[in-house]
Amino acid sequence: MRKIELIIEIKRRVCMLTAIFDNGRRISLGERWSKEELLHLRKEGTFLCPQCKERVILKLGDKKMYHFSHLKRTECENFYENETEYHMQGKLQLYQWLAKQGMKPELEYFDRRINQRMDIYFTFNNHPYALEYQCSSIQESLYLKRTLGYLKSGYLPLWILGGNQLNRRKQYLTTLNDFHYLFLQKTPSNTWMIPFYCSNTEKFIIHHSIQPVTIRKMISVQKIYETSQISIKNLLIPQNTDPLCPEHWIKEISLFKSQIIRYPGSINNPFLLALYNNYLNISLLPPYLGLPVLGSTCIATPPLIWQTFIFVDVFLKQKRDVLFTFNDVYQAFLNRVHKGHIQIRKIAFINIEETVSSLIHHYLLLLVKIKILTESNNNSFKINQPIYIPRTIDEQHILENTFYQEFSTVIF
Ligand SMILES: [Zn+2]
Repeated sequence: MRKIELIIEIKRRVCMLTAIFDNGRRISLGERWSKEELLHLRKEGTFLCPQCKERVILKLGDKKMYHFSHLKRTECENFYENETEYHMQGKLQLYQWLAKQGMKPELEYFDRRINQRMDIYFTFNNHPYALEYQCSSIQESLYLKRTLGYLKSGYLPLWILGGNQLNRRKQYLTTLNDFHYLFLQKTPSNTWMIPFYCSNTEKFIIHHSIQPVTIRKMISVQKIYETSQISIKNLLIPQNTDPLCPEHWIKEISLFKSQIIRYPGSINNPFLLALYNNYLNISLLPPYLGLPVLGSTCIATPPLIWQTFIFVDVFLKQKRDVLFTFNDVYQAFLNRVHKGHIQIRKIAFINIEETVSSLIHHYLLLLVKIKILTESNNNSFKINQPIYIPRTIDEQHILENTFYQEFSTVIF
């Protein structure tokens, strides 16, 4: 028993890549040291932790990367991520990647004002950045606390997830949990992305144009870059990427439908009730229900479901040629949110009202582009033709094919 405790104790000891030498000089292992130079330093003096000022020792073994390790457990444990080799390697590689671009980064920079230690500090376009390389799950509250701390002190936080967090099911399909969703970043073109970095392969894996299909599964355009192929500018201000592949989207939506048919769950499921009460069959829905819409990452409820709610709550109730407004749709949506039928995803530092309103706006504009609605003045809309519901599965497939052939370039 004691042996086990001892091992855990050793494992927990905080490791790092920077320390203060006797003469007060900061020693960063991010700089290029030879083993001889480091052996010499170690012989000549002692090292202290820059943060708690406790003694640390320089480990120069052949099995693990060179690092400093605390002699005993300290308060530092509250500040450092459980430093696995994977994390330390990645931190070092990201530091070197920034240094090569002339960014003058600082490894394990500790800001006393906020009592926070970031993996890497750097400036870009005159903005100070706090880069955090996150390879293990942390509590949402801790993520928020750290991010807020940075923002309040004028840093722009840049969170990069460890490639070890990536759960790729197919080349275009990834499963994200609530923890991953914290790392969603809005690009200047209003799409969503999450950057990953794998320290084993030394590659960035960037998920662009993320579109959820179900509560966990999302489709994205995945780009893999060697560190030499991508700059910090490309990462922070990504250029437009390739569009999503329509075939993948259609396939996953259809898989989702068959999943609901096979496992319908409770009879009180509000989505199934909405279909039932409106004499609809999930296999015979019009093809424009379940579209990728800009901003739908902020809704945990799958797009097929929230779009069907709008369809039954607003469109099916409209009399021909009668106008309805953006606000009618927005209120109907909020109504479902209040009833708990539509779940909003918690995304840090995003104004939910604004995001939902902009999502509905994008959705209505998309429906105009695909000729389901016409927009008249004053933000009012009307349905273009009597709503047609396919009567057989064959007919639904034909309609769906024709629909995507005609509008793919508009939708994706
Ligand atoms: Zn310390």
